[in-house]
Amino acid sequence: MELTRLRGFRDLIGADARAMSLVEERARAIFDRYSIKEIRIPVLERAQLYQRSSGETSDVVEKQMYTFTDRDEGETVVALRPEGTPGVVRAYIEAGLDRTDPEQRLFYSGPMFRRERPQKGRYRQFYQFGVEVFGRPDASCDAELLIMIDELCRDLKVPFTMEINSIGDQKCRPAFREALVKWGRAHWDELDEDCHNRIDRNPLRLLDCKRDAKVTESAPNSLDFLCDECRAHFDTVKELLTAAGVQYLVNPRMVRGLDYYTRTAFEVMAGGLGAQSTVVAGGRYDGLVETMGGAAVAGIGFAIGVDRMALALEAAGALPAATPDAAIISMGAAAARHAVVVARVLRGANLNIEMLSPERKMKTLLARASKIGARFALIIGDDELARGVVQLRDLKQSTQREVAEAEAAAAIAEARG
Ligand code: ATP
Ligand code: MG
Repeated sequence: MELTRLRGFRDLIGADARAMSLVEERARAIFDRYSIKEIRIPVLERAQLYQRSSGETSDVVEKQMYTFTDRDEGETVVALRPEGTPGVVRAYIEAGLDRTDPEQRLFYSGPMFRRERPQKGRYRQFYQFGVEVFGRPDASCDAELLIMIDELCRDLKVPFTMEINSIGDQKCRPAFREALVKWGRAHWDELDEDCHNRIDRNPLRLLDCKRDAKVTESAPNSLDFLCDECRAHFDTVKELLTAAGVQYLVNPRMVRGLDYYTRTAFEVMAGGLGAQSTVVAGGRYDGLVETMGGAAVAGIGFAIGVDRMALALEAAGALPAATPDAAIISMGAAAARHAVVVARVLRGANLNIEMLSPERKMKTLLARASKIGARFALIIGDDELARGVVQLRDLKQSTQREVAEAEAAAAIAEARG
């Protein structure tokens, strides 16, 4: 047996991991300003939870879930979570919030698991940073979340486009669904086998037909079927986005294929990603809490695909360097001991400092300092120690000067600008 990682599972080392953390940190900081509170939920849940919420006909439930039977729980079939929303809704209902305090703004973050064909931007373990807002049926909430996503993408300096649509509600969607079924039957020969199955089971997803994007050009348009209330809701969302200076495109072909989705659906696409370009996806799901056994409470949410957003960030060259401001090189036992003190002082001045091994030759250590991308090598030998100075070697400009130990932090910080 070879002890290698599984297909579709990734090790992220250094910059790639940092790009992921950066996305999560920035999202957290921005969501904080929108007064969204954290929720932590399990990675393992009853498989039924996802069958009930995502629907038997969704790709995720039909073929992507990692399930197994847990002997400890009375032979319960459990699943590694493929998405965050069902667990959050379960927790919300289980805590009784749907009845006691229905208005909640929550975010979650962590790994999701789907057994799908691995490719760039599509993995079997990936990370989502998601938001769910409950108890807010009003269009201003939809707009607020979209404004927040726009702010995050700008903050990350990722080039992006935002697409929105409305897929109506229980009142007006049946007519749209019927029109899609009719269209699907009429275009049977142009559709692939996946779509043939969708015609009866999940006709909205016909618009996701993967065979050829052109096929769906003649399909009915969800906006033509909206009732007055859904149209007014969508118009308000658009007005608020325009007033906030958020750029968006209306894409009447974009759907969410699950029954509980209502009204607003949206996606954000980032540049530099190839085929897997959707970095944020979400929508309103006013029927979900009730479907899962809770009160009739409105809901809306989205998830950021952190892996893809991190790839977009790196592709845009927007990942700031995290190299040390200085590498400390000491020569001799006494200087090595003092170097520990110097490093602590410099880090106290908010500098990024890496101490190099005291047990190597100067030439090796200077090469090492360059290799790790340090701006300066700060050199301390017995002579420097005795005089209270250090040698500061600028590795970018290949110059060296002596500075008083007490002034080293300022000298390094100054170069950083
Ligand atoms: P796709 O059409 O790309 O399969 P999806 O509709 O399955 O996306 P959602 O379930 O809406 O995606 O998840 C929200 C986001 O999570 C996606 O837009 C994407 O950024 C990310 N995501 C989904 N599946 C994966 C995966 N297997 N690997 C990496 N990121 C993923
Ligand atoms: Mg998918």
